Amino acid sequence: MEAEAHGPLAVVTGASTGIGAATARALAERGHPLLLLARRAGLAEALDLPRALCRQVDVTDAVAVGAAIEEAEARYGPTDLLVNNAGQMFLGFVADQPTEQWKRMFDVNVHGLLNGVRSVLPGMIARGRGTLVNVSSVAGRNVYPNHTVYSGTKFAVEGMSESLRQEVAGHGVRVVTVAPGSVETEILSHTTHEGVKAGYQAFKDSIEVLAPEDVAAAVMYVYEQPQRVTVREIVLASTAQI
Ligand code: NDP
Repeated sequence: MEAEAHGPLAVVTGASTGIGAATARALAERGHPLLLLARRAGLAEALDLPRALCRQVDVTDAVAVGAAIEEAEARYGPTDLLVNNAGQMFLGFVADQPTEQWKRMFDVNVHGLLNGVRSVLPGMIARGRGTLVNVSSVAGRNVYPNHTVYSGTKFAVEGMSESLRQEVAGHGVRVVTVAPGSVETEILSHTTHEGVKAGYQAFKDSIEVLAPEDVAAAVMYVYEQPQRVTVREIVLASTAQI
């Protein structure tokens, strides 16, 4: 195992683009060895970060998530931070949205998150420390038209995170939700309803939305608090977002 001279291992899911890539960069700047998971692992590799193990993993595959974390821990020591960031958003009307998109969002945003939690939590409990940062959304706290299923997944993230926080508080494990408003990333491009996509794009173009680095800074803020401090939730959005 490589010595922990550079700080403990941090795992970031969905690290190939957007918020996950920015978070990986921020963690690397602080010297953390990293496990970066995404289906497009080549994009994570292209970030060219030191001590970063990049693995092509679909977070819905619990076995693959567990195996990658085991491999990273054998190299860099136990996971001290898991950033559950991988997510999918397909906006649309429930009346005509392909049901595959509902399933995919729940699989990735909810079950994928749980797969990450399950892979690191026993070790964190055994060590009496660790931090789980679950990337939620303002859509996990408020509802918006065209966001019905996506919002459902993020309300699940909020509810599960608070329940989990209470479950593991006595074990020294911190659980945090970071809930951003609109961020400039590729996530909207996956929406297949062209009218809904154009409408949301027009909203994004009308204000200066967050940059992925703004959310990464929030993740670093909560993680770098003394271990006795849990910032339970951060909600951040563009100043211009209502
Ligand atoms: P991106 O689309 O840029 O990033 C999503 C990341 O998730 C990608 O790295 C993608 O990698 C990964 N991902 C998607 N599905 C899977 C999967 N099945 N297995 C592994 N990785 C997967 O969007 P954002 O950076 O915006 O999104 C990051 C998080 O932030 C999401 O949870 C999103 O819901 C949340 N969020 C985003 C907001 C925004 O306005 N952008 C606002 C609020 C919350 P790959 O495709 O290579 O697998």
